[in-house]
Amino acid sequence: MSGERGADILVVDDNPDNLHLLTDMLAGQGYVVRPAASGQLALRAVVARSPDLILLDVKMPEMDGIQVCERLKADEGLRDIPVIFVSALDDTSDKLRSFAVGGVDYVVKPFAAEEVLARVDTHLALRDLQLRLEQRVAERTAELEEVSKRLKRSNEELQAFAYGVSHDLQEPLRMVSNYLHLLKQRYQGRLDKDADEFIGFAVDGAQRMSALIDGLLQFSRVETQGQPFVETDMETVLGESLINLRLMLEEHGGEVEHGPLPTVNADASQMVRLLQNLIGNALKFHGKQPPRVRIEAARQGDEWEFSVADNGIGIPPDQAKRIFSIFQRIHTRKAYPGMGIGLEVSRRIVERHGGRIWVNSEPGVGSTFHFTLLPADASA
Ligand code: ADP
Repeated sequence: MSGERGADILVVDDNPDNLHLLTDMLAGQGYVVRPAASGQLALRAVVARSPDLILLDVKMPEMDGIQVCERLKADEGLRDIPVIFVSALDDTSDKLRSFAVGGVDYVVKPFAAEEVLARVDTHLALRDLQLRLEQRVAERTAELEEVSKRLKRSNEELQAFAYGVSHDLQEPLRMVSNYLHLLKQRYQGRLDKDADEFIGFAVDGAQRMSALIDGLLQFSRVETQGQPFVETDMETVLGESLINLRLMLEEHGGEVEHGPLPTVNADASQMVRLLQNLIGNALKFHGKQPPRVRIEAARQGDEWEFSVADNGIGIPPDQAKRIFSIFQRIHTRKAYPGMGIGLEVSRRIVERHGGRIWVNSEPGVGSTFHFTLLPADASA
């Protein structure tokens, strides 16, 4: 263990002979040794300069070794210094007390020099390993923090970019759509059949692009344009979502009912978006029966679990996770219109609020989407 030589060892003993013996023995091995003849002097020496290890006599007048050790362990800056107790008696209760107050080892007097040296070496090596490990952990943690900061930054930049691009695309697209509609109004039936069809395709394409841009705007807004969380009444939120969905409700002859809904700690407009996405899907993916949707909330421990249940076409179990990622759909756009962005946005909203979202479904019977949120009184 030559690597430990040069380590700073504090030897504490009220008996001058013992103090000399230990000091000389350790100094002879190349350690830097500081002697202290009492508990008080030992504490002062430790505060002046923190040693790498302490050899501490148990029995001393005024302040004994056990008390010294207790003081050291109570101090955050000193508690990691290894303490080896030295005692004249091979007394089990002394040993137990020494370990109980945090000693790492115990030497009985009279001792063989080799034994003391071996124990000192071992504990210095252990301490060295522990320090190196702590340093590695600290370095790794710092590296990880840096990487996660960079990731967060680039994610934010990407979302800001998506937001900027989607936003800037809206204006020219609106112009294309408006002129296409004008073309359709003025010239439908006045050119040939092909021309009517081409205009129809172009109008349809522009509508889809507009839906895609809307979706991308929602997607990039979740983080970049999120509002602070406030007390939000989910019944009011539901009411607003249903107003936004009234055309769809009429179109599909859908019915939405709900149980009592709580107040949560949330960004209210994102809550409207969340319910609107889930209820909108429940209406859109209906089966042969007209859509019936039920929204409920139940307290589960320290969070609220919401459910949005429908009687629609259902989702095959192997697709249940995939659909929460962007652009992931099960059906063609012809069968069911959509861009595959809504559930990704919903997931991001729920996760921004510290919750989880998942679905249980039976194909042909219906789906129930679940999500959790923190109550209004929770400190988020
Ligand atoms: P979109 O509705 O635009 O396709 P979403 O991200 O909202 O995009 O949904 C992704 C896919 O998940 C849908 O295409 C559909 O296949 C499936 N899905 C979502 N909600 C339901 C539901 N209530 N019932 C059946 N399938 C659903």
